[in-house]
Amino acid sequence: MNVTALVCSKCQRWYPPGRIYQLCECGKPLLVQYDLQRAARTLTRSALALRAPTLWRYREVLPVDEDAAIVSLGEGFTPLLACPRLAARLGVRALFIKDESANPTGTFKARGMAVAVSMARQLGLTRLAVPSAGNAAGALAAYAARAGLEADVFMPRDAPVANRREAEAYGARVILVDGLITECARRLAEEKGARGYFDVSTLKEPYRVEGKKTMAYELVEQLQGQVPDVILYPTGGGTGLIGMWKAFEEMEALGWIGPERPRMFAVQASGCAPIVRAFQQGKTEAEAEERAHTIAAGLRVPRPLGDFLILDILRRSRGGAVAVEDQEILDAMRELARVEGLFACPEGAACLPALKRLLAQGAIHPHACVVLFNTGSGLKYLDLWETALAP
Ligand SMILES: *Cc1c(COP(=O)(O)O)cnc(C)c1O
Ligand SMILES: [Zn+2]
Repeated sequence: MNVTALVCSKCQRWYPPGRIYQLCECGKPLLVQYDLQRAARTLTRSALALRAPTLWRYREVLPVDEDAAIVSLGEGFTPLLACPRLAARLGVRALFIKDESANPTGTFKARGMAVAVSMARQLGLTRLAVPSAGNAAGALAAYAARAGLEADVFMPRDAPVANRREAEAYGARVILVDGLITECARRLAEEKGARGYFDVSTLKEPYRVEGKKTMAYELVEQLQGQVPDVILYPTGGGTGLIGMWKAFEEMEALGWIGPERPRMFAVQASGCAPIVRAFQQGKTEAEAEERAHTIAAGLRVPRPLGDFLILDILRRSRGGAVAVEDQEILDAMRELARVEGLFACPEGAACLPALKRLLAQGAIHPHACVVLFNTGSGLKYLDLWETALAP
């Protein structure tokens, strides 16, 4: 529709639309570029008021050409919950939680996979594969089933049980790997040639990030055109962070917002915090985390491919990076459930101790408008409630 090119996020090399791409020749992610002047003609606030509450309401800034190619389970337009009780406890003026647990498959991975699988279908791909800490596998399996495509998913043997069971239920081939997502990616690469996979890994194809960027469009719509002062985001591969930053730039070009931007904070678990370490050391790239371990499965990404983009966004937005302990995450899961009725995933819950710390340090002003992301449902982590969280 409005796609003009795919452009490398590192070397700026330009690629024409309409073809199958993984990474740039230089090995870095490709990002979609749109004719935003053209998009702005029809993507207006008044037009949006009449559109369905899914991420496809931002059709003009999504890469799918024809409506018929869209593979949807009703993803996106999740609630932005005001949390006055929690805000009062923390001593912050305005606190919202963007509750991504309302997505199909119970996590925001649905956003990326809806767009990636739609594009895969448009491009005539039939066999998709993904290495995943867990939730991406479930989401790919669901959307592939919906589209009638094949999916092979590689996940750590100790990924949450829900991820294994849902992927099996959707008819995916589930390959359990001894090791982390990096080992899963290696196994996938080994089998790629023989099996003819298209690799739907985070940022190794250009469209998952397009699905995830819609979180920022929704935030601005739900805040009546305002941009929050601060965003805390549980960061694994960083797709959502990179996507949202791209979306804010697009929204400025569309005339929706001015040059104001939220301060972006990456939240990681102390057992796997490559971005936090690189940020603190002033580095522009992350070093692989050795022996990565945390109960927050979605944050067990030892070295994100988009590290240089994440670090650049944290610095340019005057944000930061915070690591929290697993015990703090468990406590936060209980607190969110009791204080706000939110059965959060551990990744999302990690934002709460991070916010407490940033407020205590004076890094975030008590008058700020803060948005936390609960990226998935606690229902996908019942194994934690049976073990670490058992009474
Ligand atoms: C994958 C995942 C994350 C991390 O998302 P990125 O955008 O890749 O950083 C956070 N929370 C949950 C529940 C996830 O599944
Ligand atoms: Zn490049």
